[in-house]
Amino acid sequence: METNFEFRKQIMDYHIGPDVIKYCYQCSRCADNCPVTEVSMDFYDPDKGYNPRKNILLALLGYKDLLLEADDLTIWGCTVCDTCDEVCPQNIELTEIFTFLKNQSIALGKGPDYLYSQAKTVFENAKAIPSQPAIERRREQLGLPSIVTPDINEVQTLLKNIGITKKLK
Ligand code: SF4
Ligand code: SF4
Repeated sequence: METNFEFRKQIMDYHIGPDVIKYCYQCSRCADNCPVTEVSMDFYDPDKGYNPRKNILLALLGYKDLLLEADDLTIWGCTVCDTCDEVCPQNIELTEIFTFLKNQSIALGKGPDYLYSQAKTVFENAKAIPSQPAIERRREQLGLPSIVTPDINEVQTLLKNIGITKKLK
């Protein structure tokens, strides 16, 4: 395990506010309240499952490789429900740090496969779930208005401007 000091500095920039120094003291309140930890943890193997407390510790120690080379669950398990942000006694914005980790993972082309296929679907259809005749029929039966077709060119232009073509590759 090697400390990546540049990575550590980036994490600390998220971690330290303008007036007050906030530091995680590993109380585990975030993990105790995280719904993903609850369903993925293994009492017999503490290394298994999703753990926000551990992620914060590894991030603060600058263990970039350990975080970004791990399995998809390690950083992508977070659903950004924000519960940990609410309960952290140190007011640490954990989800900001986790978003940073996810962005780093994408920059390295190490995001999970499902994420790329989901992004590709949005790029090609301008929506996450493409319209299907069955959905349209059901909406009609329920008296719901038909779905307005999005402007695919407009969405693709926006996505290209934020570099999605390169990231999808
Ligand atoms: S709740 Fe906050 S202080 Fe406690 S372990 Fe999690 S991040 Fe650290
Ligand atoms: S935001 Fe992520 S880490 Fe925090 S409680 Fe929700 S799922 Fe867990």
